[in-house]
Parts: sequence; structure tokens; C-alpha cells
Amino acid sequence: MSNSNKDTNNNNPQSDQNRGNSRRAFFKNFGLIGAATAAGGAAIYSGFKYEESKPNHDFVKVLTSDNRLVEVPRDSIKDIKVDVNRLQLQGREGLKGHRFVMVIDLSKCRNARKCISACQGAHHLRPYEYHINTLVMQESPNTAPYYMPKPCQHCDNPPCVAVCPVDATFKRQDGIVLIDNERCIGCRFCIAACPYSARMFHWEEPLMSVADKGKPYNIELNVPQKKGTISKCLFSSDRLREGKLPYCVSACPNGVYYFGDENQDAVTNGTTKVTHRLSELIRENGGYHLMPELGTKPRVYYLPPKNRLFEFKDVKDKTLEDQKT
Ligand code: SF4
Ligand code: SF4
Repeated sequence: MSNSNKDTNNNNPQSDQNRGNSRRAFFKNFGLIGAATAAGGAAIYSGFKYEESKPNHDFVKVLTSDNRLVEVPRDSIKDIKVDVNRLQLQGREGLKGHRFVMVIDLSKCRNARKCISACQGAHHLRPYEYHINTLVMQESPNTAPYYMPKPCQHCDNPPCVAVCPVDATFKRQDGIVLIDNERCIGCRFCIAACPYSARMFHWEEPLMSVADKGKPYNIELNVPQKKGTISKCLFSSDRLREGKLPYCVSACPNGVYYFGDENQDAVTNGTTKVTHRLSELIRENGGYHLMPELGTKPRVYYLPPKNRLFEFKDVKDKTLEDQKT
């Protein structure tokens, strides 16, 4: 609005109403109308003179995409529409120059299940829907059982990708295997093909389908989830794009997970935040892949459960137990 308009309309009630409407539309466009009414309604609607005389350091606090709280001038805020096509393109392309890899140290897992709940929270899953789960393993009756977290292995030769008839599941240049729920037709060929049982099917309406309705689909997060399609571990591709460790890796309190880049021969422990040489960690601790004889070439390594930090206790999933009562 130009200055001349402001001067000529200053005492005109009709114009005041128009201004009110246009200001309302302004805040609505920026998604601020609710917050503005609750937090600062008096200041916003006290009239044009306030706007004219207000100091030019009118800052608001905003949360950045990498979770920093910063102050910016209010009038520099711009509405950014999330571009679904861009999410799709970057999701297909992956992060150039990287080859992501995970190492799981079985000697440290005591089934704290923090990895599971962090993953379920991020991906809007129910307590009995898993991208990662812990299995009880026992090699023979005379050996001690242990817990084994099992996410998707992000195979370099993934049978799930080979059988998908519509290119809904695919392998990226950074090694991550993803699913496009907008393409998936729910045939479940990929479930049958995966030797690691890493995939789940949404038989029922996803947990937050009402709250997530209308949100732009993020292929790197699989949110909003979609009934009649597949879901699985994504190596938290959305977090990697922000330079962060995966949800499960960051949530583990016991140092079970290492995550990093094979190209840099480096992995970082999610609990201690110490970075190690991947090759040394694998070589010195007898790292191995699950079912290497299948030729799937997983991107997840396991370190054997030797010198265990915890005695095995049969820890039940309390969330599921609570649901039964
Ligand atoms: S673990 Fe299963 S779902 Fe994951 S990439 Fe390998 S075959 Fe596909
Ligand atoms: S269920 Fe979806 S992702 Fe799996 S093979 Fe069928 S179309 Fe592809």
C-alpha cells in the first residue's frame, strides 16, 4: 500500500475496514493469523499509526529447519509453499557424494527400545508398527540369547527394488532404498521379496491420517503415511538432508548405533558422538552382514555380541503390554 493511500484514507471508516481485511488476508497468507490474534492482537489491530511509528527493529522468533531459534525482522518473513515436486525430485536423487552405512553393536543392546519409539514418533506409526524392531536371537540352546535391532538393510542389490512393477521402490545414489507412497499400488511383491522382513503394509488407516491430511508428501519421511501402501526404514533420509544422524541412532542411550559415510570411511556413534574409521571398526571387531550368502549386499554391519555390557533380560515391550490390559 502506498503512502498517499494511507494519508487520504486515514479518517475513512470504510477504508479502515478494507485495511483490516487486507491485513487479515496478509496474516492468513503467512499462516500467522491464529498466533497473531492470541499473542499480539492488540498491537496488530491498534491501527495504521502504530504501524507507521513502530521501531524498525520489530523482530519475531522463528524456528529454522535445522531447529535453531532465531530472530528475524517481521517484515522479512515470506510465505514459502512446500514444493511437492521438489521433494519428489530431491528424494529420488539422494545426497550426492555419499554412501551411507550403519553399524549396530550387538554387545551393547539391552532392548531399551528408544530407537523404536523415536522412529515411530517421527514416522507417525502405531506402537505395533515397525521400521526397526529388536529381535531375540540365540544361536544354540547352550549359548546366551541377545537382542538384535533390525532395520531395513538398504541392500546394494535389493530384491525388493527388482520386483516392484511400478518403480515405487528404488535405490538412490547415496545407497538408501526408499518408497514413493504416491506410486505404490500395494501389490506387496516387495514384502515377499525382502529376505529380512524389513517392510510393513498399512492395512489400516495410518495413525495420524486426519492430522496429516493435506500436508505435502515427503518421500524422505514417508509422511503422510498412506493406507494400502508399504512403509519401512528410510535411514532417516530427511534428517541426513539436514546433516543430522537418524532418529534411532540419536535416541539410543547405550551406544549401539554408528552411522556415517562409507566414502569417508567414517561412522559416528549416536550416543558418544565419537567418530571412528568404519574399516577399522569392522575389521577389529569382526563386523558382518546378515545372510551374506544371498548376495543382497546390505549397507548395515553388525558387530558380534561379545563382551556384552548387559546381561540378557527378557524385556517386554511395555507399550504393547499396556495396550492389552
Ligand atoms: S532389507 Fe529388504 S526392504 Fe531393505 S533393501 Fe534389502 S530387500 Fe529391500
Ligand atoms: S507394494 Fe508398492 S513398493 Fe512394494 S512392490 Fe508393490 S508397488 Fe512396489
